[in-house]
Amino acid sequence: MTFDKYIKNVPDFPKPGIQFKDITPLIGDGEAFKAAIKVMATFAKEQKADVIVGPDARGFIFGTPVAYELGIGFIPVRKPGKLPRETISMSYALEYGENTLAMHKDDILPGQRVVIVDDLLATGGTVEATIKLIESVGAKVVGCIFLIELDFLAGREKLHHIPILSLLHY
Ligand code: AMP
Repeated sequence: MTFDKYIKNVPDFPKPGIQFKDITPLIGDGEAFKAAIKVMATFAKEQKADVIVGPDARGFIFGTPVAYELGIGFIPVRKPGKLPRETISMSYALEYGENTLAMHKDDILPGQRVVIVDDLLATGGTVEATIKLIESVGAKVVGCIFLIELDFLAGREKLHHIPILSLLHY
């Protein structure tokens, strides 16, 4: 299946100059959503993932069905102040703006194989901060999955040796 027709480009959102990739037509189409999750889950399985991590908020949309498909756990990496127990956190720069992400300190165990799932790889700041959080608890990131990769922002350079699957490139 080609996923391209399910992504709507929205110029100048949320700021002038940003070409926002709207994924809602894809997740709104049952067949396309299911097909995308299947491709993602196959890759995560190949990496022998023990758990899936998804960053707030669109990482939840794609990460939880991948985890469900594989029968493994999903761990949310959230905006600050949302998780109720002791957290570790990391700040980073976005393609537009700035962000901080937090994870429960004990959600991932040392030595676990982790695959990160998110909707889009832009500058790579989000995934880099997520990797730092995961590695700080002694777990290993064995793969990263994105529905969309913006090649011109070269975010994958921040991922070094980690295997990457992107279903669409712009
Ligand atoms: P980055 O940290 O720069 O790789 O940005 C990744 C996150 O920001 C993704 O999780 C997206 O949800 C969001 N994002 C960044 N740029 C765009 C864009 N052009 N269109 C849609 N979402 C974006």
